[in-house]
Amino acid sequence: MALPQVLERIQAAARRAGRDPGAIRLVAVTKGHPPQEIQDKVLRYGHFPLGESRVQEALPKMAAFPGLEWHLIGPLQRNKVKFCSGFRLIHSLDSLKLAEYMSKKAREMGHTFRVLVEVNLSLEPQKHGFLESQLTHALPRIREMEGLEVQGLMTIAPYTEKPQTVRPIFAQLSRLADRFDLPERSMGMSGDFEVAVEEGATLVRIGRALFE
Ligand SMILES: *Cc1c(COP(=O)(O)O)cnc(C)c1O
Repeated sequence: MALPQVLERIQAAARRAGRDPGAIRLVAVTKGHPPQEIQDKVLRYGHFPLGESRVQEALPKMAAFPGLEWHLIGPLQRNKVKFCSGFRLIHSLDSLKLAEYMSKKAREMGHTFRVLVEVNLSLEPQKHGFLESQLTHALPRIREMEGLEVQGLMTIAPYTEKPQTVRPIFAQLSRLADRFDLPERSMGMSGDFEVAVEEGATLVRIGRALFE
């Protein structure tokens, strides 16, 4: 699917749900793809925010395309935090320890990290993120930390061939974002983004569908 078709499907899903299509942003996930391919499959259609999973892979691409908006969507290791000031948004804040470390680094760097708090709603043990039951305690603490600006929540649904089955997970992330009064909901990937948009996504992270 080319990017314009993905956009059309995002907009159609928004309209089905009675949402403003302008309230959803496509984050083009470029991991595994070199700059030329990013140019051909994404940037020829406009300046979309670009998502990368790994800091080491992202940095040279960020240097190749200065001035674009880059998001980190994969797990962040502490020893990489100091290289992350170029990301407009970090989707994957997944523990209090990482939050504390980022806050400390932010103060040293004179920087503010804009972050989403990752929530593990699928209860798959290999997934990163806070459990829902931990948020009441963790979110207020993170929101008080200097150098961090929490803009919303992020989740990764389990992989499925039937996206309808993960609808409750997306609905739950939206409810949590509402409850904590956070504007951004990062949810939905190539296999399930339409359901995520119907359930309130403001950022959809799409890779495979753009590059196939
Ligand atoms: C790779 C990745 C995506 C994109 O997944 P696709 O199935 O390629 O659309 C989205 N979010 C995260 C966290 C990822 O690692």
